[in-house]
Amino acid sequence: RQLGFAVVGLGKLALGEIMDAFATARRAKVTALVSGNRDKALRVAARYGVPESGLYSYDDFDRIADNPAVDVVYIVLPNALHRAFAERAFRAGKHVLCEKPMATNVADCAAMIAASEAAGRKLMIAYRCQFEPHNLMAMRAIRGGELGAVRVITADVGRGTDPRDPADQWRLNRALAGSGSLFDIGIYGLNAARFLVGEEPVEVRAQLYARPDDPRFREVEDVVVWTMRFPGGAQFHGSTSYSYSFTNRIQATCDNGVLVLDPSMEYHAQRLQIRDRTIQMSPIDQFAREMDHFCMAITDGVPIVADGAEGMQDVRLMLAILEAGRTGRAVSTDWGYRRAADP
Ligand code: NAD
Repeated sequence: RQLGFAVVGLGKLALGEIMDAFATARRAKVTALVSGNRDKALRVAARYGVPESGLYSYDDFDRIADNPAVDVVYIVLPNALHRAFAERAFRAGKHVLCEKPMATNVADCAAMIAASEAAGRKLMIAYRCQFEPHNLMAMRAIRGGELGAVRVITADVGRGTDPRDPADQWRLNRALAGSGSLFDIGIYGLNAARFLVGEEPVEVRAQLYARPDDPRFREVEDVVVWTMRFPGGAQFHGSTSYSYSFTNRIQATCDNGVLVLDPSMEYHAQRLQIRDRTIQMSPIDQFAREMDHFCMAITDGVPIVADGAEGMQDVRLMLAILEAGRTGRAVSTDWGYRRAADP
């Protein structure tokens, strides 16, 4: 059976990608919308066939407990709001799919996991690249040993930000975003390095930089450059920025060859190069795959590849990167986390 989803927050990602993804999802359908703007909600509902009885505002969202057509609440709000809506959704007896980054601090992540357990409902973090075929093929090539030992993973992920764009305004505001480029897009490089190698980094060093005269970076970081050490011997060199031209490139330099994902995290067009072989498969809808996976976890007990613990691990690591950058010291990240299920 298909599970019903309530999409919370009708911003750029929800309207640009997620609403359309239901058309190709096999196990998920959209049955409710939660928005601060009633007119927008009505327009979107009409376009996607959501009944008026499935429309909620942020204030009356808790009424969703009485809507049996909603099984899953998909949170697509600014980062700092994820925890409160996850807790409310669990209190309403719903499962929660939450956009990355899971939250802006570790306490919020822990509270979300606790709320999921208390409610007996599932929690997944929306790491769409873990369902993207080029990323998965890269992971299998690296972990399968085809290229020999990984020496260095390099990941550069960034884009420009425009303070006139409402979707960038909250991203430049520490209270709503938690941090800058790292939590928003650097997270893709970090998460990919972890699943490509299949290990957890044990130490980090970092540098932070923002041009002092750039008003965008009064509250959040711009450029973050870090190195991490994986226990098996691979080094990870990551960078992210809110003033790069649009970049998302990951390279694994190994003993017997080089693998490149460039672009690595676009919505519809990845490219993988393994040595001199270029692989470009036809695009799939990563959001549809991710939603279908969560439905299978709920109805068939399939292990969730990106559960709350996985989201919290990235938040802890990102905070360690920022601490290393602020203090100029190496920070240990060897706290024993192991992911429960591989992509
Ligand atoms: P957005 O600004 O376009 O959308 C956010 C929505 O939240 C808007 O509709 C806005 O009106 C609403 N909102 C509710 N309360 C708000 C408040 N107090 N302040 C500001 N907005 C408020 O942002 P987005 O790009 O859609 O990002 C939303 C979430 O999705 C973020 O967590 C982001 O990290 C994540 N995201 C994930 C991907 C991905 O590929 N998985 C891509 C983009 C964004």
